[in-house]
Amino acid sequence: MAKKVAKKAAKKKAVKKKAVAKKAVKKNVKKTVKKKAVKKTTPKKKTAKKAAAKKTAAPQKGKLVYFFGAGKADGTSQMKNLLGGKGANLAEMVNLKIPVPPGFTITTEVCTLFYKNKRKYPKELEGQVNSALARVEKIMGKKFGNPNDPLLFSVRSGARVSMPGMMETVLNVGLTTKTIPGLIKRTNNPRFVYDAYRRLMMMYSDVVMEKSAGIEPATDHDAIRHKLETEMDKLKAAKGYKQDTDMTADDLKALGDRFKVIIKDTLGSEFPDDPYEQLWGGITAVFASWMGRRAVSYRRIEKVPEDWGTAVNVQAMVFGNTGENSATGVAFTRNPATGENVFFGEWLTNAQGEDVVAGIRTPYPVNEAARSEDSMHLPSLEKAMPNLYKELHAIQNRLERHYTDMQDIEFTIQDGKLWMLQTRVGKRNGQAAIRMAVEMANEKLINQRTAIMRVKPDQIDELLHPSVDPVAEKAAGELGKGLPAGPGGATGRITFTADDAEAWAKRGEKVILVRNETSPEDVHGMHAAEAILTAKGGMTSHAALVARGWGKCCIVGCSDLDIDLRNKVVNINGKQLKEGDWITLNGSKGRFYEGSLPLLPADPEHNKWYKELMTWTDKNSRLQVRTNADSPSDATQARLFGAQGIGLCRTEHMFFESDRIKSVREMILSEDEAGRKRALAKLLPHQRGDFYGIFKAMAGLPVTIRLLDPPLHEFLPQTEKDLQDLASDMGVSYDKLRAKNESLHEFNPMLGHRGCRLGVTYPEIYAMQAQAIMEAACQLAKEGEKVYPEIMIPLVGHVNELVKMRNTVVEAAEAVQKSFGKKVAYTVGTMIELPRACVTADEIAGKADFFSFGTNDLTQTVYGLSRDDSGRFLPYYVEDGILKEDPFISIDQEGVGPLMELAVKKGRSVKPKLKLGICGEHGGEPKSVEFCHRIGLNYVSCSPFRVPIARFAAAQANIREQL
Ligand code: PEP
Ligand code: MG
Repeated sequence: MAKKVAKKAAKKKAVKKKAVAKKAVKKNVKKTVKKKAVKKTTPKKKTAKKAAAKKTAAPQKGKLVYFFGAGKADGTSQMKNLLGGKGANLAEMVNLKIPVPPGFTITTEVCTLFYKNKRKYPKELEGQVNSALARVEKIMGKKFGNPNDPLLFSVRSGARVSMPGMMETVLNVGLTTKTIPGLIKRTNNPRFVYDAYRRLMMMYSDVVMEKSAGIEPATDHDAIRHKLETEMDKLKAAKGYKQDTDMTADDLKALGDRFKVIIKDTLGSEFPDDPYEQLWGGITAVFASWMGRRAVSYRRIEKVPEDWGTAVNVQAMVFGNTGENSATGVAFTRNPATGENVFFGEWLTNAQGEDVVAGIRTPYPVNEAARSEDSMHLPSLEKAMPNLYKELHAIQNRLERHYTDMQDIEFTIQDGKLWMLQTRVGKRNGQAAIRMAVEMANEKLINQRTAIMRVKPDQIDELLHPSVDPVAEKAAGELGKGLPAGPGGATGRITFTADDAEAWAKRGEKVILVRNETSPEDVHGMHAAEAILTAKGGMTSHAALVARGWGKCCIVGCSDLDIDLRNKVVNINGKQLKEGDWITLNGSKGRFYEGSLPLLPADPEHNKWYKELMTWTDKNSRLQVRTNADSPSDATQARLFGAQGIGLCRTEHMFFESDRIKSVREMILSEDEAGRKRALAKLLPHQRGDFYGIFKAMAGLPVTIRLLDPPLHEFLPQTEKDLQDLASDMGVSYDKLRAKNESLHEFNPMLGHRGCRLGVTYPEIYAMQAQAIMEAACQLAKEGEKVYPEIMIPLVGHVNELVKMRNTVVEAAEAVQKSFGKKVAYTVGTMIELPRACVTADEIAGKADFFSFGTNDLTQTVYGLSRDDSGRFLPYYVEDGILKEDPFISIDQEGVGPLMELAVKKGRSVKPKLKLGICGEHGGEPKSVEFCHRIGLNYVSCSPFRVPIARFAAAQANIREQL
């Protein structure tokens, strides 16, 4: 409904437009005259000029439209919030005197007002647009809507952060039955004009008349875009054409006439023939696309706030499709897939920007360095237009130096003249981000701290992603190949639509999304998929950009794929695969295989840029990073990742191994202390061996070992059959075993007989564990190794629990040291994982050598929700916005955080140097790591594979604090 109102309003405005525009032109002329007069009477010309530049370079109250062109811009790159990334950078390029077609940016504030005022524009907008438009007309020496020599515009979105392809664009605005003949006369190129017209119709009907008007086609096939594309394909097939460029002027003219009929039949209204109606329709459609389904879904994934809004950029059109002396391209100042410092990109002659990214024609490499095996035969801009390439190369170099970051640029060559259409910080995958950051720091373009801030913690994670096992890959017959758009390996089951991919992934399936090409409508499915495989598109296609941004494995432009969407099958080089079949992608090579090939874990150790970056992070951190590890192999892995100790060794994990579980069960079934001690004596050597191995692997780094924590019933089998088997195995009666099992039953085991409560009631368990720890430590000390055992008591809520357990541990430890005749420095600390422990942390600190926050239990007890049952409702809470994030993933800084802060304050009030850490799952999550840094913990501890991310997040937290 609101959309209809907006449309009507836009139409009404369009009618008034011409008159207003004329007035504006007049006004503008007057203004210019006035300005000149002022200039003449100003004695200090230079100073005045400077002052004016300064005045215009800041946001101005009431200013809704910012002009740029001919070396002068109202905005700067600092004004991204107001002008969006694209608008701010266009202004900056103009300020840098780089050739940019003139235009103007309608601010993000207008977008906010548009939605606030029921999709109505502020009344001042019209006048400001008209003045800016008149300035563009003046520079271009052409007039919008002039039948003899018309000026055409592009209308594009531009939010504060880049949202590739998520919002709308309309090109060639201003082409009408009246202006077409004039443009033909001027260009002497009817083919070009009719081609531009059919493109306008395709974009406009899709973006403005269908999407922005809120018309939902019943199926993909009913969408206007699809219908028009089908019509064009029909024409090409009938004439035997392969390329769009094969269509003649007459073909395109006839096609345009057909388009008009189809548009009227499908959408119920005529394609507008008034340039102002087109312009305002385009502007409104861009603002409307901010709330479009795909933009909303992208924002949710990328956590972009809704109230940021988008700007609209209206810019004079320049054409890359006026003939063979024209071209268009997309390029990156460095390779966005590998990070290598080479200018990298794609271009096409006689084409418009959409042709390069849409994958309709195979793009050419921009230079010789960007050639791949697959583009060997294609012409490079470097060779085809060497002077223009030189100019472009110099500009890209300047832009990178100016912005001190890799730029993603768009350019057009119109009849031999180069125009820059866009520059923005380019998206890159993790591998590339790390290499670029390190190389730029080494080139002294940025400093090491900036380099650290350039890489997102998630990008570190990407580097740790698996790759396809090369042996298995060699043995597997290749199914097909395409462009390596997103590195790494992935395996999954084929799905053909984004909705299916999302639904299958929700069921727990690993899926690969296989599409002809992706569009922004597919983002939810792309996000859910392990990897993406497309038949069309180049390295700068939508799929490539989005996958790269997420660090996802991706292969694009695989022309061997022949997808039959209706029957959900794909034919690849004579082989047919159907939905649900497994395939494996090697996104680094652009090769894929039938079936599920084994994947190898990532190998960051052989990445020299990563290794260098990590040495810088440690120099810039205050917080240490330890690991949660229960075995020597995990400990070794974590050390390779840079762990500075073990923050949590969960001893119960060792109890489950086949050679111990029997003794554990024997202990549980024992009637008295003597029986338990007999069973524990059997466990002792195993535990000693475990600890010995872990201490050795950590070679002198501190190791925190937590004594037994879970409720005992977890060690008994749960099914009737398993209980029966166990009874016969252990030689006890089934009834006795069942009775014991029942006696261990708890209503809420998470809050039951567990943690130190076990140690309080069965001190012999903790005594045995302390003995095993100290025997291993003393043995190693005897062998000349350094060991730092830290013995940790879980689930302490009252200081007296700790007092008792500490005594048990100290008694056992002293006895071991005596018998070994060796002293090993050890400490006894506690987990802080209950609210009462936080509140009484001062009392507890009096008896503890260290605290380690168990934020898993602390979260569950603060919220009063069981972490094991929360899966049933927490996802809903997050989806519904009741909670911003799952508190078991990222620390709830409003609810759990303050209790931690209290514990830190109280603990350190008693022992100012009290060592504080965290070993809950949050210890590897970047936002939580930053929080831990802020509240003054000494270390975070997390699983081995999260150690690098935590190290990185720790450095970023430290740097951010000092900014
Ligand atoms: C915790 O509660 O945060 C913790 C680390 O202990 P566990 O997850 O083993 O209960
Ligand atoms: Mg716990």
